[in-house]
Amino acid sequence: MQYTPATDRYDAMTYHRCGKSGLQLPAISLGLWHNFGSIDNYENGRSIIRQAFDKGITHFDLANNYGPVPGSAEENFGRVLRQDFTGHLRDELVISTKAGYLMWPGPYGDKGSRKYLISSLDQSLRRMQLEYVDIFYSHRPDPETPIEETMGALHSIVQQGKALYVGLSNYSAEQTRQAVAILQSLGTPCLIHQPKYSMFERWVEGGLLDVLEANGIGCIPFSPLAQGLLTDRYLHGIPAGSRASKPSGFLQENEVSEEKIVKIKQLHSLAQERGQSLAQMALAWILKDKRITSVLIGASSVAQLDNNLDTLKNVSFTGEELERIEQILHG
Ligand code: NDP
Repeated sequence: MQYTPATDRYDAMTYHRCGKSGLQLPAISLGLWHNFGSIDNYENGRSIIRQAFDKGITHFDLANNYGPVPGSAEENFGRVLRQDFTGHLRDELVISTKAGYLMWPGPYGDKGSRKYLISSLDQSLRRMQLEYVDIFYSHRPDPETPIEETMGALHSIVQQGKALYVGLSNYSAEQTRQAVAILQSLGTPCLIHQPKYSMFERWVEGGLLDVLEANGIGCIPFSPLAQGLLTDRYLHGIPAGSRASKPSGFLQENEVSEEKIVKIKQLHSLAQERGQSLAQMALAWILKDKRITSVLIGASSVAQLDNNLDTLKNVSFTGEELERIEQILHG
């Protein structure tokens, strides 16, 4: 059936400026790491993307290797764009992709060389059938490649018109400081950083967020729900169809540990007291920090997406609630 975007799509979403740039991003963005590959149900993925856009999610995050098979999430996303987002709708979207992890065999399909980054983005554009992406990331630091070369490749990509902005992902605070200075000197400022951040993964609090704030750079944490742990998904074991149950899922069964489940149950009770789902509380907890531009969620169904979007109804915490969360996490 022909898709017509909801006319009220911008009404319920909040948009945050990305660092000190001109770009605004939705408080919640959608990532296509899992659930959008060639092994997944295409129509389900398509419904999630359409629902996201109908609710004001303008930002969709990809990478060269998302699938499985690697590359198939970009192919499927391109197909959805051609089916449903024709004409001017491209201008209402912020699409990102990345290169940095293994994508093809041999010495040129991995890490941070100029050779890899530029050819990988060319492949991504072909898979999505796009002329440009909005944000292109160096997916991870590569200590074996001079950082000047990796940043030089990002700069060239922008100059060639293949990306409008560039970002860093998984760079430490110190690596970020260096990369940002080089990009600045080249005249291509770093727009955004994409780190792993959730109640269970706090490394960004140890310096990265300060570096980003000092340099006017946005932050879009990935896996804010710890891949589904910080939801009601695993309260009673590992259900069929969940990420931890699938051989292709990145969440391993042993990460759903007894120790974690005890904490998850306590967090779940606190969320219920707040009148929220645990997923909503976990997302709100990240968004409470004004240095965060957007939280980058995944979803395997429209119902999960809707649940996560309702987070925005209550993103404030009392001091006592925050203390209780710390006690649970450190208990
Ligand atoms: P999340 O932590 O949001 O986990 C998403 C998973 O949680 C879903 O697939 C689903 O699991 C479950 N879930 C989501 N919402 C709900 C809900 N309301 N109730 C119950 N379960 C829920 O994020 P991801 O790990 O998927 O990462 C998000 C995005 O971040 C990726 O798509 C990618 O774009 C990016 N990313 C970037 C990385 C990088 O190195 N830069 C690395 C990893 C991710 P289930 O499938 O079991 O239903």
